[in-house]
Amino acid sequence: MTLPEWVPIRDDLRPYEPYGAPQLDVPVQLNVNENPYGPSKATADDIAESLRAAATELNRYPDREAWALREALADYLGHGLAADAVWAANGSNEVMQQILQAFGGPGRTAASFMPTYSMYPEYARNTHTRWIAGRRADDFAFDVDAALALIADEQPDVVLLASPNNPTGESLTLDAVRAVCDAAPGLVVLDEAYAEFRRPGTPTALSVLADYPRLVVTRTMSKAFAFAGGRLGYLAADPAIVDALRIVRLPYHLSTVTQTVALAALRHADEMLARVADLRATRDETAAWLRAQGHDVVDSDANFVLFGTFADRHAVWQGLLDKGVLIRETGPDGWLRVSVGTPEEMAAFRDALTAVLESPSIRQENA
Ligand SMILES: *Cc1c(COP(=O)(O)O)cnc(C)c1O
Repeated sequence: MTLPEWVPIRDDLRPYEPYGAPQLDVPVQLNVNENPYGPSKATADDIAESLRAAATELNRYPDREAWALREALADYLGHGLAADAVWAANGSNEVMQQILQAFGGPGRTAASFMPTYSMYPEYARNTHTRWIAGRRADDFAFDVDAALALIADEQPDVVLLASPNNPTGESLTLDAVRAVCDAAPGLVVLDEAYAEFRRPGTPTALSVLADYPRLVVTRTMSKAFAFAGGRLGYLAADPAIVDALRIVRLPYHLSTVTQTVALAALRHADEMLARVADLRATRDETAAWLRAQGHDVVDSDANFVLFGTFADRHAVWQGLLDKGVLIRETGPDGWLRVSVGTPEEMAAFRDALTAVLESPSIRQENA
């Protein structure tokens, strides 16, 4: 996409493409880390009934503060959180954009550690926040010493850390979270979009939230919660941080429709999350299979697996797509990311990958 010259867009935005993975209509979609198991009939019925009731009031604006929803999210999170310590928006992407609007901006700095979620630099760009990209270690582990050195040098106003990290999959230790919080002069945002998938014994930063008033933990209903289409992300933080975000949010940003369907889904939280254990098991099986094929695989606490490396990863990605299996070409050079789907979808992925890697042209390129 190239915008015509006459479109008076900001100069710094002109070179960019709209962000997003290809949305292609293929049989096996393993590219955006969705939960492959949709809401049950009972949940879908409750969502529909709730919406029918709310429909008669769509002439009115929604609750601007979304109190009922924030209460339900606080209950879901536990850790003694109350509604005033929870904030919600249209996906955690919007939550994070609001964070950068309130805490970043001209003259301010945001930092993260690559490879990580590719939207972070976009939030910074959109809000005129200076962007500092630190590095993870060669094995993609979070390098605490390097992070503390970068924080000391750059004094970032916002540090963004994904745990489990996307696209690599590993979680931060609580010691690492504490070390960053102790060192950072501003906000520390722990993006826990995949928290529900973490392996047993892996901590959540919610457990140290009370110790660090400038710590923010973001979550989403898009991944484990099987509600990507509902567009609902949220965070937990000190109520004063939430108040700061209320200054930049658009009035009525969460529609009545969104609040209603999210509340209905949360009433069925157990059911929405019922397949998470299955997905974890399928993830571990997928990682083990990829390793057995001789690939490098990063241990994952999320619902995806990063594997590689390929001399021409695009050819592998395209070969899979030609066989009806869409995965994600993302992350460091040579690596590919596959989301965890149903056992049938993963069987299709394994068959397609085996066939693609046996094809003479790819074998040669990736030798
Ligand atoms: C998918 C994802 C999100 C969430 O996106 P939503 O806007 O809530 O759908 C946030 N952070 C990371 C690291 C993700 O991978």
